[in-house]
Parts: sequence; C-alpha cells; structure tokens
Amino acid sequence: MADLVDDIKSKLTIEGLVSQYVQLKKAGRNLKGLCPFHEEKTPSFVVSPEKQICHCFGCHKGGDIFTFIEEKEGITFVEALEVLADKVGIKADTKKYKKKAGPTDKDDYFKAHEIACEFFEKQLYKTNDGKKVLEYLYKRGLDDETIKEFRIGFAPDSYDALYPSLIKKGLNKNVLLKSGLVSSKRIASDQIYDKYRKRLIFPIFNYLGKICGFGGRALSKDQMPKYLNSPENAIYNKSKELYGLSFAKQSIKENDQLLVVEGYFDVILPYKAGIKNVVATSGTALTDKQAKIIKRLTSNVVSCFDNDDAGFNASTRAFSILQKEDVNMRTIVLDEKDPADLVLERGGDFLKEKISGSDNFMTVLMNKLVDTNDVNTLEGRKAVISGLMPFYKGMKSSVRDFFVRELSSKLDIKEQFIYDEIESFKLPYDHPAKIKAKSDLKKTKFDVDELVLGIFLEYPKVFGITNDLLDKNDFQEELKSVYKALADKYNSLRENCKDWDFDKGVLLKNKEKIDVLRLYADYKYSSFSEELLEIELGKLIDKMKKSTRISELRGIQKQIDEFEKAGDTKKVLELLEQQQELLSK
Ligand SMILES: [Zn+2]
Repeated sequence: MADLVDDIKSKLTIEGLVSQYVQLKKAGRNLKGLCPFHEEKTPSFVVSPEKQICHCFGCHKGGDIFTFIEEKEGITFVEALEVLADKVGIKADTKKYKKKAGPTDKDDYFKAHEIACEFFEKQLYKTNDGKKVLEYLYKRGLDDETIKEFRIGFAPDSYDALYPSLIKKGLNKNVLLKSGLVSSKRIASDQIYDKYRKRLIFPIFNYLGKICGFGGRALSKDQMPKYLNSPENAIYNKSKELYGLSFAKQSIKENDQLLVVEGYFDVILPYKAGIKNVVATSGTALTDKQAKIIKRLTSNVVSCFDNDDAGFNASTRAFSILQKEDVNMRTIVLDEKDPADLVLERGGDFLKEKISGSDNFMTVLMNKLVDTNDVNTLEGRKAVISGLMPFYKGMKSSVRDFFVRELSSKLDIKEQFIYDEIESFKLPYDHPAKIKAKSDLKKTKFDVDELVLGIFLEYPKVFGITNDLLDKNDFQEELKSVYKALADKYNSLRENCKDWDFDKGVLLKNKEKIDVLRLYADYKYSSFSEELLEIELGKLIDKMKKSTRISELRGIQKQIDEFEKAGDTKKVLELLEQQQELLSK
C-alpha cells in the first residue's frame, strides 16, 4: 500500500486536488481559500505546495491529499485510494485492503447505479423502442458523442427488466429499494418491480463524476410525474447536487463564471455548443447548499431560467440566496422558451453573446417592475419600490448605492426617499437574507508554546536567540520531546544550525502536528522581517515564562496547603521560600 500511496502522491499535488473544490489565491509561499469544511467569509484555509498539506485555521480540518478527500467526500481511506488512483490513471488493486475494511454501504449504492446506468444505455441503442427515443434525442439537437458522454439512457415499458439483472449481480434488495430503482407495494413482499418505466433517463453525477442518482423524464403527455427523480439516500442528497457539475467544474474555474439553468437539456445543449461552465438546479429552486458549492468555485453566476413566471421566480429566489453568499448574479432574458431551445434555434455563439450582454438581476427585476406598474401613479411607484426592498436590504452598501441611483432616475424620485424606505423596511421572517449565516467558527487559537515551537520549526535561524531562556519543561507534555530534539541538534551545531531534520526521529514521529504548526507559523509570520520576528518571539516567550511561573506557583501553593494540614512546618517554610523566589523573578 505504501507504494500505491507514494505513486499517487507523485502524480497528484495537494494544490491540484484542492483547487478542484476551492478557488485558491496565492498568499506568499502558500495558497489560500474559503474553507470547504466550515462556513466562513474570510479565508482561513491554507494549502502548502511545499509541505503538500492543507489546513484550516478556523476549524482545524485538513491534512494530505488522502485525508482531504476522505473528509470532503465522506469516504474511507480505501475509497480515497481508489478515487485518487482513478483520478491519476493508476490501476489500483485495493481488494486486499477492502477485505480488511469491509465494503461500505455506499459501495453497493454506487454499484447498483452503475449497473442500472449501463442497462439504460443499452436499452437506448439496442431496442426498437429505444431507437425511437434516440430519434427524439437527435431531433432535440443531441448527437451520439454527447449522449454517450452524459450517459443518457432509456427505461423500457416493463415492470421486470432491470430488477432481475440487479439481483443477479448480488445487490441487496433494500439498497435497490432505497435508491429508488425498484419499488414494492409492501416492503416485506417479494413483489418488486422496476420504478423507471418508459422514461428517458439522465444519470446524475456527483462532484467526482460517479453516478449517484437518476432523473427519469416522461415520454408521453399522460405520464405522471413528468420527472421521476431519485429519493434521498446514502449517496444522493437532492439539495446538494447540481446537474452537470462534474463536467463543468474545470471550465467554471477557468472562466470564473457559472451559468445556471433549470433542466437537463439546458445543460447538455450549451455544453455541446462549447459553453461548458453550465449546471442545472434540476427542477428545484437553488438551495443554500448549492450556493455554497458555487461560491467555492466562483463569485459570478449568470442565471438563465425558463421564460415563464416560474422561471422568473426561480431567478428571484436564486438571486436572494446567492446575495447571502456574496455571489454576484446576472441574468439572461430569453425570447425563446429555454436555453436549450435557444441553442438549438440560434446556436451557441448567440447564447455566448447573451451571456456577455446580461444585466445584473437587480436591473432586470427593476425593469420588469417598472414595465408592469404604472409609475405615473403613486400606487405604481410604491409597488415598484416595495418589490425591490427585500433585495436592497441584503446588499452591500457600495452595490446598494448604485441601484438606489438607478431606481431614483427611473422613477424620478429623490435618492434619500429610497434610503428612508430601506431604513424602515422590515424583511419577512423567512427571507433568506434574514436567516443569517451561522457565524464563522471562532478561530481556535493555538497555545503560546505551540506558536513558539512552530516558529522554531519553520525558522531555525531564530532558535539561537532563545535557547537559554527556555527549557523543555516550558512546553506541554506532547511537545517536550520535540523541543528537546531541536535543542540537542542546535547545541551540537550552534551557529551552523541551518535546518532541522524532518525525516527521522522525533520530528518524523510527530510529523502531522509539526506540519500544522509550521504551516501556521508560515501563514502568520512569513511577512515579518527577521528582526520583527525576533521581537514577536520575545513577547511570546515572556508569555510562556509567565504561564509556566503561574502553574509552578499553583503547584507550590497546593503543596503548602497539604503540608499545613499535615502539620509539617519545616516543609511549609521551605516551600514559602521557594514561592518568594519565584515571585521576585
Ligand atoms: Zn474550516
């Protein structure tokens, strides 16, 4: 296994992996971004290309590539090995480790989805009914390449086409029921039948590109429901998935922009036409969780929902949810029914033009309200203003000023009047802007001795100036041996000590802790000059000494109390003397 781990590590860097999830910006020798593990507005998630680790100084999650992916995807170490081996194109034989760990429940779900997907794909190309559906797909503008890339399939009009083949592969009945692939009148009964019948099948891929659910679209008008989607289960969380994200993520980061649409075809057709940074909410309104996933990739969203009231409401809702995440949203107003039709009728370049010419949603909403109300009357103007108020309320002041000016000129009223309205407007209790984001985790501070040790480890040069001031008893238990190892090395080399040996002995044994302390020292002090660092270190050491003294004094006081009780006056006097000595230091 060690070989496999090293193999993967030699092909995949921590910054390469993390940047698939988080937008990283350069910060000195490191990279910084918003933590993918907790909610925060200012980045405290640091990635070190040198140390090949990442760490959040807010919630203290992170580690190497394996810990990162385990934590992020909620998978085991063995699964992480598989996922990453697959990513870098190594054939990983993890069977023997698997046996040890035992297959997880999730493995069965993924397996069932994969087998079902292959079955649906085959039905589309190999059956007569399937071929008719294929014709329909061609008519909607798809070609074989795209159909195969998105793995679109067809569920035949049968109650027992899929189920027997899943059971033959040894899959558990309960997993199949919970994944919504099959149904039963009563759970206990053996009358189990296929849930997807006579439907066009869109597999839903998770962030890593594994199939985690299906969307089944009705093929005739009388079929209900129009969309049959997977129920929530061990691998599918409806409010979290964005359709197409595994295909789009790279392009989203490259363009620093995301196009959000409603349906499967609205993703696939623009994608085929070269607009690859596109995802769909798939029938639901944009959720908080989806907004958070988006925020990690980009702060620029363009919405393009259906050209009807429902579509406009979905845009409005998305705008207020993204506003809360500080994500900017522009919107495309269509003449066609939806973006899929637009691409089919007028081509991808036309959609590209629409994207670059799109207005901020606030402007679009303002225009719509001005158009649908008689702004020459007092009532009409009031309606426009009150329709916009909830969004003014959630805006940053710089943005707000811009849109106050815009509205003031459109309605020909004084800006101050709008500001007064904003001031007195109260958000409805369920408005997204009102449901405040959970306050960022309190930055968990390191103990002062940890900070000092971190500085020593990262900047060996400064060790000398403090060597005589400290000894290992100034450090907490777990760090004593580390400090001693540094002191020994330093003493044996004195001025010639330029670096520590992290590859063996105590430092290797405590590698994880040490890496985090070093990364923090780097994160906090890399901009300091050596002189400034020495001053800072002096202050920290004073603090340490003081706290050592306090705990020593406490210890002595405890002994004094005990010997007093026992009536040992001689001992008590000795201890009092010690106490005086410490206090006078
Ligand atoms: Zn965090």
